[in-house]
Amino acid sequence: MILQLKRLFDRVGEQTDFSGVIPLEELRDLGTSLEFTSPISLEGKIQNIAGMVTLDYSLRSSLLLLCDRCLDEFTKDYDLSFSHILCLNESELTGEDDVLIEDYVLDMNELAVSDLAISLPTKILCSEDCLGLCPDCGGNLNRGECRCQG
Ligand SMILES: [Zn+2]
Ligand SMILES: [Zn+2]
Repeated sequence: MILQLKRLFDRVGEQTDFSGVIPLEELRDLGTSLEFTSPISLEGKIQNIAGMVTLDYSLRSSLLLLCDRCLDEFTKDYDLSFSHILCLNESELTGEDDVLIEDYVLDMNELAVSDLAISLPTKILCSEDCLGLCPDCGGNLNRGECRCQG
C-alpha cells in the first residue's frame, strides 16, 4: 500500500483515514524473514497538526513462528498499534519513532512489516509456560514425549 501525502504535508489541519490489506504475495516480495500466515490488515489515520504530520495505525496479521525453547512451530495472531511522526528531511528526525519518507510517498508495506518485526520479543515462546525439551532425550516435554524419568 503506497500513500501519497503531498496534500497532507501542504495543508495544516488536513487529515486522512486509510484502510486496506497487504496480500501475502506482496509480503513475500519484501524479502522479510517473517513467515506470514495471513495478509496484513491495516487501518489508520494521518493528520497534519500545526505542520507536524503524524501517523497512527493498527495492523492485524498472523505469523508462523518457531519456539526458542521447544523448537515447535506455532501460529500467533497479532493486533498492534503504532504511532509515528513523518518527516521529509533527515534533519527533522528527532525520535526513534520518526519515519523518513521520500517525495511525499509512504510505503505502508515496508513500514508495517518493520514495525511488526521490531515489536516481536527477542525470545519467542509458544507459550509463557512452555516446558521445552528434555536435556537428556530431547523429547518435547509439552507433549510428554520424555520417557527418561521413571
Ligand atoms: Zn515452546
Ligand atoms: Zn527425557
